[in-house]
Amino acid sequence: MEKAPIKPQEKEASVRINGFDEVVSCYRQEEALKEAERCIQCKNPTCIEGCPVGIDIKKFIFQIAEKDYKGAYFTIKEKNNFPSICGRVCPAEYQCRKTCVFTKKGAAFASEKAINIHFLERFVGDWGMKNDSGHMTQDTRHMIRGKKVAVVGSGPAGLCFAGELARKGIKVVIFEALHKTGGVLRYGIPPFRLPSDVLDFEINYLKELGVEIIPSFIVGKMKTLDELFKDGFSAVFLGLGAGTPSFMNIPGENLCNIYSANEFLTRANLMSAYKFPEYHTPINIGKNVVVIGGGNTAMDAARAALRIQKIKKLVPSVSIFYRRTQDEMPARRLEIEHAREEGINFRFLVQPVEFAGNKDGYVEKIKCLRCELGEPDSSGRRRPVPIKESEFNTTCDLAIVAVGLKANRLLTKEVPGLKVDKWGDIIVNKETMETSLKNVYAGGDIVGGEGTVIEAMGMAKKAAQALISRFSSR
Ligand code: FAD
Ligand code: SF4
Repeated sequence: MEKAPIKPQEKEASVRINGFDEVVSCYRQEEALKEAERCIQCKNPTCIEGCPVGIDIKKFIFQIAEKDYKGAYFTIKEKNNFPSICGRVCPAEYQCRKTCVFTKKGAAFASEKAINIHFLERFVGDWGMKNDSGHMTQDTRHMIRGKKVAVVGSGPAGLCFAGELARKGIKVVIFEALHKTGGVLRYGIPPFRLPSDVLDFEINYLKELGVEIIPSFIVGKMKTLDELFKDGFSAVFLGLGAGTPSFMNIPGENLCNIYSANEFLTRANLMSAYKFPEYHTPINIGKNVVVIGGGNTAMDAARAALRIQKIKKLVPSVSIFYRRTQDEMPARRLEIEHAREEGINFRFLVQPVEFAGNKDGYVEKIKCLRCELGEPDSSGRRRPVPIKESEFNTTCDLAIVAVGLKANRLLTKEVPGLKVDKWGDIIVNKETMETSLKNVYAGGDIVGGEGTVIEAMGMAKKAAQALISRFSSR
């Protein structure tokens, strides 16, 4: 008889919306074993091709089933430095689970029956956190001495790159513009999905390996790349992310109480504004919050806003407006499910066209058009087509715009000879991740791509390997 997939424990929706505590628990040992035993150990495993960094999934699941957790940890670590993070945030339903043999070929995302590879990965990663012996240490056989490398940005790309080099004995200094490390993992993804202690664990490990972190330091403003090279750095890695929010550019978008999702989440997560006045950063919240967008950022902003309403003793009322339907939403399926359970209201096929404000300049209403789906666009998703004369108004006293992010040009525009494309993304050699400038590498969201944590780390690993082989061959 076919065995049912094992779901990890979750906090009840009515309980979890009262705070920012983690929602999904780690598999208990018996749950992990049961799920691992569901894997049929395919002769030619198709799951691996769906993993952007090619983790040997079949092998690590086999090792779990054999209770060889340390072995499983090392198998994952060969390809993925941060399994506890990816096990929590990877959109596995579009990646390895989608290509698992239990998902029908050609499906838009993974079947329920696909092995819960991400939950198993998290189980192994969390096991590694609890058992220090599981950590990977320096690769003492092939140490590279006398080299110093600068990393700009401490998101998953920068952290992963730094870890790879530090394991080889290379001195690494990370420069981070914000006062805390982690990039989007810290300021964007809320602690109810990725608790800070998981991130702190990985960052402390890098520090133990000798990585130096200099926070509140904007490269390009406080020092140029040339100055870094003059300071003795042999190479620089740019893991700048894509931190500039996009807007819809519609009338009224600059009214008060219209946030970019980045600002809203940075206040809530990085600055703990939901604990104001205990923490000093305030955050405005409304009685009727509308979040515009359909990705992970929109889900995170909506779920954070709902929690803040609860904390501030308001009746929760948060809606997500999206131009397409749920099927086209790029957000992780689990996040959509969780948002629904928590009481977020979804309004599909609607496109805001104007914000209207009150006499004090605060948003009061959104004018929208209804849409229908047309032909697929360049993203492969069906294009939303506004329907003529379908206009309607909706009340809203706080709006959060989550319609995309793009490259921040603060550093790149200051560096002569550094080639970027029309979106401001840095152009790299895809094999080595080297930019148009010698000894300057880049990876993560600043070079474009799918915009996922694992992809950012995959690029960073590629860049680190290219630089290490360059150092080794000298
Ligand atoms: P970032 O994480 O953006 O980090 C870049 C860092 O560089 C930042 O800390 C920034 O301050 C710093 N920096 C920039 N310029 C400078 C400078 N000049 N000097 C010094 N420091 C600088 N992906 C998933 O896989 N799963 C998810 O569930 C998911 N959820 C998301 C939710 C939100 C709200 C957002 C915004 C993104 C989400 N993503 C998710 C996408 C994912 O987080 C990104 O793809 C990933 O973080 C990119 O990593 P990065 O290292 O390239 O950049
Ligand atoms: Fe196991 Fe699915 Fe991978 Fe086959 S494709 S090895 S069943 S996880």
